[in-house]
Amino acid sequence: MYGYGYYGLFWDPTYVFVLIGVVICLAAQAKLRSTYAKYERIGSLSGMTGAEAAQTILRSQGIYDVQVVPVSGELTDHYDPRDKTVHLSQSIYGRTSLAAVAVAAHECGHAVQDANGYVPLRLRGAMVPVVNFGAQISWPLILIGILLRGQTLVSLGILLFSLSVIFQLVTLPVEFNASRRALALLENNGILQRDEISGARSMLGAAAMTYVAAAAGSLLQLLRLLILFGGNRRDN
Ligand SMILES: [Zn+2]
Repeated sequence: MYGYGYYGLFWDPTYVFVLIGVVICLAAQAKLRSTYAKYERIGSLSGMTGAEAAQTILRSQGIYDVQVVPVSGELTDHYDPRDKTVHLSQSIYGRTSLAAVAVAAHECGHAVQDANGYVPLRLRGAMVPVVNFGAQISWPLILIGILLRGQTLVSLGILLFSLSVIFQLVTLPVEFNASRRALALLENNGILQRDEISGARSMLGAAAMTYVAAAAGSLLQLLRLLILFGGNRRDN
């Protein structure tokens, strides 16, 4: 999605922005992995699996039309509003760890957002097709624009790239809100005891930081593009 393959074609001092973004993202991912490894080993006192916790949370919110299903892969957990399904990876679905229960509750937080018509989630959903299209053609447009010395193409490419940056910024409140809902739901439904909540909070906080890092990385890339090409118009 970020078009890393194209960067080698125009190396310059502002490339440091890209490197900083990559380092931030790698650090956030490493922190998430170590936090997950820690809370994966701690079982919840209630002994509920991720799937059971999800079912309990959904029922407590009067949500009966959302399915909870296992999905293959790691960190593939997500809620899909199109088919109203909470997809939980195998290590979350069937395990009773703090990490499993926290992640399952977070995905249910998205289902609750959907059921309540939470505006940032709606906005994010509406942006997906445009952003996917923009992500595919923004870097090719910028490159072709550079090769043909066509500032309009470059500007259009940067505009499309900025859409994906906006998308990542809209994602942040959606993610933080889902985690906030998750922690309240875990406690109110007795799935986690009060002293277990801080572990779940650390786990979800580390996950949220990967979204912050991705957004920061994209903002840095946009800044770089604007520095490189934003003031070029008078030269053509
Ligand atoms: Zn989420």
